[in-house]
Amino acid sequence: MMEVDYIVVGLGLAGISFCEQLRANDKSFVVFDDNSQQSSVVAGGLYNPVVLKRFTAVWKCEEQLELALTLYSNLESEFGVKLDYKLPVYRKFASLEEQNDWFTASDKPVLSKYLSTKIHKNDNKYINANYGLGEVYDTGRIDVKTLIDTYKKYLIEQNSFIEAGFNYNALGIASEGVNYENITAKQIVFSEGFGIKQNPYFKDLPLQPAKGELLIIHAPELKIDFVLKAGVFLIPLGSDLYIVGATYEWKDLTNEVSVAGRENLLEKLVKLISCPFEVVNQVAGIRPTVKDRRPLVGSHTDYKNVYLLNGLGTRGVMIGPYVASQLFNHIEHNKPLDKEIDIERFN
Ligand SMILES: Cc1cc2nc3c(=O)[nH]c(=O)nc-3n(C[C@H](O)[C@H](O)[C@H](O)COP(=O)(O)OP(=O)(O)OC[C@H]3O[C@@H](n4cnc5c(N)ncnc54)[C@H](O)[C@@H]3O)c2cc1C
Repeated sequence: MMEVDYIVVGLGLAGISFCEQLRANDKSFVVFDDNSQQSSVVAGGLYNPVVLKRFTAVWKCEEQLELALTLYSNLESEFGVKLDYKLPVYRKFASLEEQNDWFTASDKPVLSKYLSTKIHKNDNKYINANYGLGEVYDTGRIDVKTLIDTYKKYLIEQNSFIEAGFNYNALGIASEGVNYENITAKQIVFSEGFGIKQNPYFKDLPLQPAKGELLIIHAPELKIDFVLKAGVFLIPLGSDLYIVGATYEWKDLTNEVSVAGRENLLEKLVKLISCPFEVVNQVAGIRPTVKDRRPLVGSHTDYKNVYLLNGLGTRGVMIGPYVASQLFNHIEHNKPLDKEIDIERFN
């Protein structure tokens, strides 16, 4: 028999963020993961407090950034790995009108600390940006793959990781706790990303999964050390490698890469850069996005010790630690959840 405080199902950004709450508060737990989803594994890892399509602030960006950056920095020290690569983001302007919109936005109180007030002239001959670039502050890339590999290894050493699909039929629920095979726990948290569609307790929530694909290119002459955002993102990885992303696709919900995805990205890329490059890899995953663009957090209507942490959407790196903290404080300290993230809103 194994007795723990929590069972956690899914070790992506949501699961890891929640496990970190548990560790910080001396709660015992065991995690299941079967590698069936790979949104976190393939993610570009970018964090950025500004929506660069519309020049608006990301919901709760200040709180999110603070929690997320502290968490990744603590993990870096504890595990001795580099996770947080601080990098400025440069938004390419497509027109004078966009430059004006940027100036208007950078004047707003919530945005002024994140947006440069000057327009950078593009001086890289391989980048096509005649209207210049605007700089976003407090941005960077988390190496999510290293985070997951490191975290999983740690959990295995602690005997807290079970590499298996969670069999929903084997879950027993009583008022004092849950049981599963030889494990008893006070509560269970499901953080399965798009895997939620198989979960009988939560599958009817309005998750609108969006497949995303990325390319890794080798472009030895490009030489940029910032994230460039235009029709696509270009994220430098070092050694002349760059992530190019990402696509959005709502029909094909497999984890397989596609020719259409690759062509879509290449078409946008060749409009942005003119130097030679070679595609060295392509990856795909399904983002757990939600109709109203807010996470899915809370407990099951009938089973109060069965919880959900999902719907991280396109911004899991920043929002994961925030929603994990909300859920933990809700379960352990009875703090109400933000109404906007509580799954009660769909009842
Ligand atoms: C191409 C692409 C690029 C992206 N770029 C960024 C970016 O730059 N910045 C950013 O912040 N976000 C980005 N995202 C979004 C980000 O990846 C998601 O917000 C985040 O990864 C979701 O994390 P999650 O833990 O909820 O889900 P997942 O990462 O899908 O994790 C769920 C886990 O649960 C496991 N699981 C599921 N069902 C079961 C089961 N029954 N039993 C056992 N285990 C199970 C899966 O194997 C998986 O490991 C990107 C996504 C994609 C696809």
